[in-house]
Amino acid sequence: MTVRAPRRILTAAAAALLAAAGLTACADGTGAASEPGKVGVVAAFYPLQFLSERIGGDTVTVSNLTKPGAEPHDLELNPRQVGQVVDADVVVYLSGFQPAVDEAVEQNGGDRAFDVAGVTPLRDAAAGGHDHDHEGEWEAGHSGEGGGKDPHVWLDPTRLATIGDNLAERLGKADPEHAADYTTRAGALRAELTKLDTEFTDGLRTCTRREIVTSHAAFGYLTERYRLEQIGISGLTPESEPSPQRLAEVAEEAREHQAGTIFFETLVSPKVAETIAREVGAKTAVLDPLEGPPADGDYLSAMRANLQTLRTALDCS
Ligand SMILES: [Zn+2]
Repeated sequence: MTVRAPRRILTAAAAALLAAAGLTACADGTGAASEPGKVGVVAAFYPLQFLSERIGGDTVTVSNLTKPGAEPHDLELNPRQVGQVVDADVVVYLSGFQPAVDEAVEQNGGDRAFDVAGVTPLRDAAAGGHDHDHEGEWEAGHSGEGGGKDPHVWLDPTRLATIGDNLAERLGKADPEHAADYTTRAGALRAELTKLDTEFTDGLRTCTRREIVTSHAAFGYLTERYRLEQIGISGLTPESEPSPQRLAEVAEEAREHQAGTIFFETLVSPKVAETIAREVGAKTAVLDPLEGPPADGDYLSAMRANLQTLRTALDCS
């Protein structure tokens, strides 16, 4: 008897915790992994959530492991989120981008994991820098992150479309009854992404400048596709603090290329960008790397806003 009483108390406490977790999950809308009759998809961060929702339609429920306003690179998972990975029918993630997610998938994901990094070959991290420069900085940015690959693949709409086609196939395996629907929706999304790609190609064809100075080097896929050149103040992850020497180098390059605008991003402090802008007499503007959900609209509208920002900053005709 003396043994059973405490056990019962523990059980009650555990039940209360579970109930609280369940309530929280409903309240913040991120815990919808297992609605009866639907495919439970867990997406690791916003662009993968966008893809999963667009392609999954109303036969899937999608939850995002990275909460709005959080920076996904250094995401930590709480036990409830690890539980979401355990319970998911499909986990959509990008290996090498979020170590905590990689770990959870490795331990609990099994054959339910869909790794976006395996769809198209990723760029080498050092490949997209400003040509004549700073390999060391890039190394610092991605050390320990998946063998020196640049993870920001979603910023090339054509690559995102290809990932979408592959995701449709994966969802079709999890839910054969609706496989044709997933394929159809991926095709529709591909058409929208192709249109966006054409707008970028046309909109950035003729510009006075082609160099963009950005907070962290998130735009390598975008600059590669549209023949721009990225000067990342910090490396591939925003939290790698730029050294005073690096700041001086970036300021010098910004002057050299007469950059009128230094870009910062929504989830990272603008301080460093502002410092450089002040030093070279440039403006600042937001260029959204879509690492979190945009305040308004979706991936497509945020990318169009990025295009307008770039056209203004680079003086495109
Ligand atoms: Zn990033």
